[in-house]
Amino acid sequence: MADPVTAEILDATRRMDHRDLMVFLDYDGTLTQIMPKPSLATPDGDLKSLLAEFSGKFTTVIVTGRTLEDIRDFLGDAYSCIALHGSLYYHDGSIEDLSGRIQEYSRITSTIFGSCKFLEKRFPGMVMYDKHGGVLFHHIAMNPALIPDLQQEIQGLAREYGMSFYRGKNVMEVRIPGIDKGTAIRKVRNGHPAMIAGDDATDEEAFVANPEAITIHVGNNESSARYSIPDYRAMRNLMRLMIDDI
Ligand SMILES: [Mg+2]
Repeated sequence: MADPVTAEILDATRRMDHRDLMVFLDYDGTLTQIMPKPSLATPDGDLKSLLAEFSGKFTTVIVTGRTLEDIRDFLGDAYSCIALHGSLYYHDGSIEDLSGRIQEYSRITSTIFGSCKFLEKRFPGMVMYDKHGGVLFHHIAMNPALIPDLQQEIQGLAREYGMSFYRGKNVMEVRIPGIDKGTAIRKVRNGHPAMIAGDDATDEEAFVANPEAITIHVGNNESSARYSIPDYRAMRNLMRLMIDDI
């Protein structure tokens, strides 16, 4: 069944040649529920079979802030993937460094991670991850009153090491400067018509940089996407309807 917004999106996809359409899908919060720990957001059987079928009909690229290893642990090697917020592009068995300096930034983030582990003691409940090209501070279990202090600390680190500060759902991050999902998607799609779906602040960059694409915000927040659907279930429903439509 298609609600009015889903029907509109289906109509928009019908106006494009599906063989030419590239579909860019965020993972966490878009294809799966947001989980209290990133490692818990494993794909269920339904998602695995849906993605396999969907990518058989549409050129599909997973676009995530996660590391390449992380997303391949979840989904295997079969899918093209833009990882680390647009820093790396994995396709046809090879990895392209879209940041141009991944080795250097991997060293920098290991330094930050090693020298700042004490922050986990100072902010109980917060967990740090070295993404080898970003440091993630996951704070869903932390006292919310301490979030401004944590943010100040991380913004200071980003400045000190010449990295960018990013804040998303339950996470803050120092990440590689000059990269974002929007620029990466523009480069990868190389003029092809596109559908782009995501739920978080970093996906807004993708929507803004690709205004001619079919852009879909997954969630109920303010968004610059052309369409909004409520949650990952609605996203999966749309994908199922797109499969049945061609
Ligand atoms: Mg997301």
